[in-house]
Amino acid sequence: MPRNLVLVLGDQLDRRSAAFDGFDPGHDSVWMAEVAQESTHVWSSKPRIALFLAAMRHFRDRLRAEGIAIDYRELPVTVRPDEPDSLAAVLLETIGDAATPPRGMRPQRLIVVEPGEYRVRELLVAAAKRAGIPLEIRPDRHFFATVDDFAAHARGRKQLRLEWFYRPLREKFGILMEDGEPAGGQWNFDAENRGAFPRTGPGPLPAPRRFAPDAVTRGVIDLVNTRFATHPGSLATFDWPVTAEEARAALDDFLLHRLASFGKYQDAIWTGEPWLYHSRLSAAMNLKLLDPRDVVAGAERAWREGNVALESAEGFIRQVIGWREYVRGVYWHLMPEYESRNALGASLPLPAFYWTAATEMNCLRDALSQTLTHGYAHHIQRLMVTGLFAMLAGVRPEEVHRWYLAVYVDAVEWVELPNTLGMSQFADGGVMASKPYCASGAYIERMSNACRGCRFEPKKGSGPEACPFTTLYWDFLARHAALLKANPRMTMQLKNLDRKDAAEMRTIRRQADEFRAGLG
Ligand SMILES: Cc1cc2nc3c(=O)[nH]c(=O)nc-3n(C[C@H](O)[C@H](O)[C@H](O)COP(=O)(O)OP(=O)(O)OC[C@H]3O[C@@H](n4cnc5c(N)ncnc54)[C@H](O)[C@@H]3O)c2cc1C
Ligand code: SF4
Repeated sequence: MPRNLVLVLGDQLDRRSAAFDGFDPGHDSVWMAEVAQESTHVWSSKPRIALFLAAMRHFRDRLRAEGIAIDYRELPVTVRPDEPDSLAAVLLETIGDAATPPRGMRPQRLIVVEPGEYRVRELLVAAAKRAGIPLEIRPDRHFFATVDDFAAHARGRKQLRLEWFYRPLREKFGILMEDGEPAGGQWNFDAENRGAFPRTGPGPLPAPRRFAPDAVTRGVIDLVNTRFATHPGSLATFDWPVTAEEARAALDDFLLHRLASFGKYQDAIWTGEPWLYHSRLSAAMNLKLLDPRDVVAGAERAWREGNVALESAEGFIRQVIGWREYVRGVYWHLMPEYESRNALGASLPLPAFYWTAATEMNCLRDALSQTLTHGYAHHIQRLMVTGLFAMLAGVRPEEVHRWYLAVYVDAVEWVELPNTLGMSQFADGGVMASKPYCASGAYIERMSNACRGCRFEPKKGSGPEACPFTTLYWDFLARHAALLKANPRMTMQLKNLDRKDAAEMRTIRRQADEFRAGLG
């Protein structure tokens, strides 16, 4: 009977986490479980399931090698009739239900670090109560800011904005600071981070380091291919880091080969090139294989040693200590009510092609194909291709959210939900973003080569060659004009709408209605 049973969830694979504070291998033990429902409550892609399970099994082996007692529940390849159907049920099977003593190991106390999802936190609290065993939830030291820090920041503010949260964090931790001032005299080099590639393309790109699956990961791949055969995506190219050592090697590879061009091209898209200069570190960080302090320190060091320009280092660091911390704050500050927001009253179901990539729209086909192949798309593809299309078409935010949570290897709800619901769908009415990220096909044409291989014309809003993004863009502005007029940042776009010929707008709106009806 252990004194403390430390619960380690799939996105908490950090030996230095607060869960292990005071851990005594003589008296305490660890519990980890693979539970099918965690892969089916949203229809998770094969790469996402495989990454979580492979990283968990490697972490288990590491703890065992240290001599730590661990109760690890492996998912069987085929469904067992008596299999517990949820994380709570598996936990209760281990620790015993107070109603049916004396079954189970009955530890004196359960310990867990703050989970990354509201649903899981509630479920653990309820299970511990049912077992009659106290549950201690410890703060997650992985992040620079605590949930309480964010609540204090938000208190009394009418609006939340990244910039107001990001600057004090830079000051507090002395990141990219010189004599109390931001390095280079500017907090933000966003304007220098919007480059597109020349017409000839990006040229030779530094291929990111691959991590070939070892025997443990291959076992997981076989399991996922069998048990989750009907789930979307493929494992043919699975090469994600699954241990802390591999994650560190992935960071070093990024700092050396891609950070220098990250800033300039962070908003660019090139078809068939999924990685460009992006870091591919989100999943490793979100599973806690990698400490964001090491990531930020590495990027700052690369600048101080003269290996990368300040705008690249700042552009990257802003994502990690800015956006990543900010979205977590928004999530915990506004859940559970946040999840059901639908400020634009969107009502369409998610188009089926999001699960298959079977669409004529070249930009979407490219972003969706790589999502299904790798479980990855970079930020601008998520925001300005898949997200933009769903918002312009008027897809229900809850369905968009469930899709994003299912398909990406880095998807954990604290980071996925505010990005999807808030930043990309504007369903939170402006908490995350000061205006909807709405654009026509012309934006995608400017930032990528996708339109060159497409049967549609990005600048046309009506007619047989009209780009669906452009048709839906004008229709979106017209549908929401009354709401958007109150927003000064939308003035220019609404002025352009007013300039449009009335007859043309009638045609565009009819075409948009027909297109949307076809999607449903
Ligand atoms: C609709 C939508 C859904 C998203 N869902 C997720 C998700 O489930 N999980 C996730 O980690 N990120 C999510 N993001 C944010 C971002 O797209 C990914 O973090 C990024 O694409 C991961 O690739 P990378 O590691 O190569 O990132 P890079 O482009 O190299 O960026 C560096 C790091 O900055 C952080 N970062 C960058 N942008 C954001 C952001 N907006 N919010 C939080 N962190 C950020 C990530 O940790 C990332 O690894 C989403 C964005 C959108 C628009
Ligand atoms: S023309 Fe429109 S649909 Fe085709 S790639 Fe360009 S933006 Fe996408």
